[in-house]
Amino acid sequence: MTEELSAREISRMYRDYINPDLARVMRITGLGSVEDHAQGCWVWDNNGQKYLDMAGGYGVFCVGHSHPHVIEAIEKQLKKISLSSKLFFTEAQAKLAKKLAEITPGDLQYTFFCNSGTEAVEGALKIARLVTNRITFVAMNNAFHGKSTGGLAVSGRPNYRVPFEPLMPEVRHIPFGDIKALEEAVDDTVAAVIVEPVQGEGGIHVAPEGYLQAIRRVCDEHSTLFIADEVQTGFGRTGKMFAVEHWNVCPDILLVAKALSGGVIPIGAFIGTPKVWSAFKGRPLIHTSTFGGSPLACTAGLATLEVYEQEDLCHKSATSGAYLKEGLDRLALKYPDLIVEARGLGLLLGIETVKEEYAGAIISEMARRHIMAVYTLNQPKVIRFEPSLNIKREELDLCLQSLDESLAKTREMFKEK
Ligand code: PLP
Repeated sequence: MTEELSAREISRMYRDYINPDLARVMRITGLGSVEDHAQGCWVWDNNGQKYLDMAGGYGVFCVGHSHPHVIEAIEKQLKKISLSSKLFFTEAQAKLAKKLAEITPGDLQYTFFCNSGTEAVEGALKIARLVTNRITFVAMNNAFHGKSTGGLAVSGRPNYRVPFEPLMPEVRHIPFGDIKALEEAVDDTVAAVIVEPVQGEGGIHVAPEGYLQAIRRVCDEHSTLFIADEVQTGFGRTGKMFAVEHWNVCPDILLVAKALSGGVIPIGAFIGTPKVWSAFKGRPLIHTSTFGGSPLACTAGLATLEVYEQEDLCHKSATSGAYLKEGLDRLALKYPDLIVEARGLGLLLGIETVKEEYAGAIISEMARRHIMAVYTLNQPKVIRFEPSLNIKREELDLCLQSLDESLAKTREMFKEK
């Protein structure tokens, strides 16, 4: 970059060269600033203003922004080799795959590395088809699995799906949490059931007690695979390393992305059992990725997992999550005319507002108070809170204080209308 541009100029360039409507939406949601640098839970704009990041990149910044341990590791790696030649073995990839086999539940063992959540979904759907020799999937209403065509086919919001139909055929959508609907939908033709243990973009819905165990049982009865999409819930977000551990179940394929590389470089992966990996037998190149598993991304992944151990981040997520949830519950009681309820697990929390327009107003008021918050993609009535897992108590208090003020202001605004 040669010259520094103002926020106005950059916003105009978004309008003229990227996406005019997106530029408009970004301006009216209240921030409209240009990010300059970030550290821990804080982001600075190019005017030197700082913002508390309670959106956490929708699950990316579990260790915080620019964690020094991750940065140091990738700076070292950058000087050696960053992307793979693909003809040699990559040490960091081998080490990260072994580490993932150690920390994931049950007999999950093999990892395929890619670069995003939706790529992990695509790969898992393909492998499930290969290994079962079936083409039907069962997915959840309201689910979010990304915006590639396979990811969209199993996602649950018609707004995003319908304009691209026909998508992958033979997807049966069922209500999330409904065991009877699950039992009716899964039969011997179903390759896999795909589910998020906590629906993130769907509005922060935690799987009801017994639901994931029921999926495991029904899948076993029909030799169907269980795919757990932990792209957002993975790596401590819900207070355990993986959300499925809350219910002691083990999927056949686990999908991860977002937090794995410490918020520094894109990564995604799907991890499967030896049985699932038989799909690659005799055809190791049936599914590939040029950039997936690069030395740089895998080095970031290894350093990130070291931070989890050094800082006990899963435990912090559980305790800070409980503290924040208590605060959100208090505000839900104080503002019953604005908030339906607070819900979530660990530091994947949300408040459901009574009306979509309240959520927009609250988010704008919080932005004015320099708190970054955002609604969930499939449910704009829900404002999510998913900050870094090492967020401090005083930062959580600051968020709650600003939310309280924003709710009071929103109540006033709508009373006047
Ligand atoms: N799966 C889940 C559960 C997600 O929350 C997301 C993104 O929010 C995705 C898949 C898609 O990930 P990406 O945006 O990296 O493609």
